[in-house]
Amino acid sequence: MKLVRYGEAGAERPGIWLDATGGQPARIVDVRGMAFDIADYDARFWQTFGVDRLRGLLTEAGLKTLPAAGVRLGPPVAPPRQLICLGKNYRDHAEEFDAQVPAHPVYFAKSPSAMCGPTDPIRLRPGMVRVDAEVELAVVIGCRVRDVSEQDALACVAGYTVLNDVTDRDVQAQRLQWFLAKSADTFGPMGPWLVTPDTLPDPQALGLRQRVNGALLQESHTSNMLFTVAAVLADVSRVLTLEPGDILSTGTPGGIGSTRQPPVLLRDGDRVECEIDGIGTLCNPVIQGD
Ligand code: MG
Repeated sequence: MKLVRYGEAGAERPGIWLDATGGQPARIVDVRGMAFDIADYDARFWQTFGVDRLRGLLTEAGLKTLPAAGVRLGPPVAPPRQLICLGKNYRDHAEEFDAQVPAHPVYFAKSPSAMCGPTDPIRLRPGMVRVDAEVELAVVIGCRVRDVSEQDALACVAGYTVLNDVTDRDVQAQRLQWFLAKSADTFGPMGPWLVTPDTLPDPQALGLRQRVNGALLQESHTSNMLFTVAAVLADVSRVLTLEPGDILSTGTPGGIGSTRQPPVLLRDGDRVECEIDGIGTLCNPVIQGD
């Protein structure tokens, strides 16, 4: 199942994406129109077996849907309590970044306020000149997770989506931390939907790639992660309790634009695509200014 949130930024409604089939264009199920108590894809939704409710809605005779064409999608889940990211979780990216391959997962926080939709503009503010895109598999947590074993960890996953971990390399280098470099407004395009684990059982079996203006920059496979989704959930939940709706993004492979010769930096008018097989593609224009 593909969960989407649609409508104006900040006022999105929960929906279910129905792919185009047999000449019928794609449609979106108006979840709130059918189940008024499902306000959003938030912590309460995951705690109250929301996906089972959605499966029930799909079997109802009077399915309320709208045409998907022209409808803005937002991030596929409500703003989370926390958005935890991994740095240097692919060997080739660790080598291009600072040549140090980590022995343990490297964590940092990205502000959830950076999140935006799968076709929203990435906005470069004045002074942002060395900005990169990073394609990443993001994992949404579906239950409380504390001291989970690696073996049981994937049972705690509500679904998978694509995150573009947009990064200001100048801020990252000059300010000696990552949070500010990765938390600018619009620096977290996410979506286009959340894919539930029943249709995506193995998060380590996915090709992923990034293109800028159609040119391929990153291409890898989630089997190349240094630390798997299950290993990371086991590791981080030994220290802090994860709650339903929390998001963990699993790092980016090598090939980022800023390390190329000559560098490929995001500029006004660019189009960035981040794609993961079995999930979908983000396609965000880059705009200079507000
Ligand atoms: Mg990243």
